[in-house]
Amino acid sequence: MEKLTSPRVIDTILRKYDLHFNKRFGQNFLTDENIVRKIVEAAEVGEEDLIFEIGSGIGTMTQVLSECAKKVVSIEIDRKLIPVLKETLADCTNVEIIQGDILKTNIREILGDDLGKMPLKIVANLPYYVTTPIIMGFLESDLCFERMTFMIQKEVGERLCGKPGTKAYGSLSIAAQFYSDVTIDFNVPSHVFMPKPKVDSIVVSFKKLTEPRIHLESQKLFFKVVKASFLNRRKTLINGLTMNTDFEKETILKVLEECGIAPGIRGEMLTGSEFAKIANGLYAFEASMDV
Ligand code: SAM
Repeated sequence: MEKLTSPRVIDTILRKYDLHFNKRFGQNFLTDENIVRKIVEAAEVGEEDLIFEIGSGIGTMTQVLSECAKKVVSIEIDRKLIPVLKETLADCTNVEIIQGDILKTNIREILGDDLGKMPLKIVANLPYYVTTPIIMGFLESDLCFERMTFMIQKEVGERLCGKPGTKAYGSLSIAAQFYSDVTIDFNVPSHVFMPKPKVDSIVVSFKKLTEPRIHLESQKLFFKVVKASFLNRRKTLINGLTMNTDFEKETILKVLEECGIAPGIRGEMLTGSEFAKIANGLYAFEASMDV
């Protein structure tokens, strides 16, 4: 059989199974084998690995993952693609296809006994409409994985890797970098997809931290402070925190002074550790009020 990346093959499959690209499911299939192999390489897939793939599509990346890994479990929401996958992956004996919605699926249950027996890596050409909930869902979960490599919308990738003082920096950068080391692997032009998406793409990898990068008294309060500081990007830190939290302005000013952080600075200039200092200061204030 010709390669699944061939637009002619994709067309033939669509006609044979009377299918149309489903925009609702973010279906943009890869048409460049070189890019598929580069993603698998960036994911550092090894022959002892268990791979969890999100969005099998017609099985293009699943086939390559199957060649390189011990076992591949791939989830696909679109029921109509299941008969296609039965055909395209007929020779891939180490692949298990699950029909379902990644956001409503218990991954531990799916992976079952294989979890913990092999190193787990997560790989996907993600449907762009659910990028953030999928990524944050994995980062916030206690699922033990070694690496996660995703092709996503370029703008989201830049936000995930954003550094203080840049336009891309925001609460998503802080959240992703709180849980993991995030790296940009490479850019992907829109002409390697069928149909061509309207946005540029990027491949990004996450290595989950085993120890938290920063000490927090309360994770909830930390994310509240971060969100409050970025809600109105043009406002100063003191105004953002006063407007968007329940703390009195005087309390916030006192905590900022203790932390050595200027109240007139913009939130986007602060590092994750500086936000942690503020959150821990506010936590200590709250605790002192309770006694
Ligand atoms: N892996 C294929 C490739 O690279 O050519 C397809 C990638 S396509 C961008 C995303 C795939 O994810 C589609 O096949 C789509 O049907 C599937 N998908 C969309 N939403 C999903 C969800 N919530 N859960 C599981 N799969 C989903």
